[in-house]
Amino acid sequence: MAALIFSALAMTAIVGVRYLISSGAFAFATKLKHPGLYRGLEPQMRREIGWSLASAAIYGIPAGIVAWGWQERGWTRIYTDLSAFPLWYLPVSLLAYLLIHDTWFYWTHRWMHQPWLFRIAHAVHHESRPPTAWAAMSFHPVEAITGAVVIPALVFLIPIHVAALGLVLTIMTIMGVGNHMGWEMFPRALVHGPAGRWLITATHHQQHHAAYRGNYGLYFRFWDKACSTDLGLGRFAAADRERSAADG
Ligand SMILES: [Zn+2]
Ligand SMILES: [Zn+2]
Repeated sequence: MAALIFSALAMTAIVGVRYLISSGAFAFATKLKHPGLYRGLEPQMRREIGWSLASAAIYGIPAGIVAWGWQERGWTRIYTDLSAFPLWYLPVSLLAYLLIHDTWFYWTHRWMHQPWLFRIAHAVHHESRPPTAWAAMSFHPVEAITGAVVIPALVFLIPIHVAALGLVLTIMTIMGVGNHMGWEMFPRALVHGPAGRWLITATHHQQHHAAYRGNYGLYFRFWDKACSTDLGLGRFAAADRERSAADG
């Protein structure tokens, strides 16, 4: 029992520190690239950090319980022996996790935009106007629970190498922070090219925060396109300012 509690607490600390480091790094990059972009948003950023640290516990506890069960009880289908599955399975499992997480996110997110549920569960996330790098985990606890159960459930269902799982979590963290940063970190050729038609980056998620009804996806635009909720790419205040400065 003590080991179980320790694992839940340790994972909460890991998720919290991971959030502070990743959001802190992107907030710093924002300071360098777009000085003043977050000017006047200090009270909002304090709120974002508070909600995000609460979410860290909600994400950390189930993850800690599953990690304990994996180590102590042989739960889950996480494997460490690379030869346990063919090598082609590594990218396939990674993609499967991303696609399933994206599907779960699209439908729960779209559901949370129903007015009655929006007020309870999702208004907190949209209180960030515009979101900053600190908003990556700024969720009401109800929303945080819907996000926190996905990966701990998937590891019981779909075999994944521990390194591929680490990559899934890294992608989740980077995209979560990057998509709320207020500027686009990926090259224009990617965002506005063929890949950008299917991948979600900050430019796409920005439009969700601007228009609310649409662009509900997490990684891929597949569900938004299939369900006609894709609003296309958004615009950034920073980019607009720079463009008008360049125009003179
Ligand atoms: Zn968002
Ligand atoms: Zn939303």
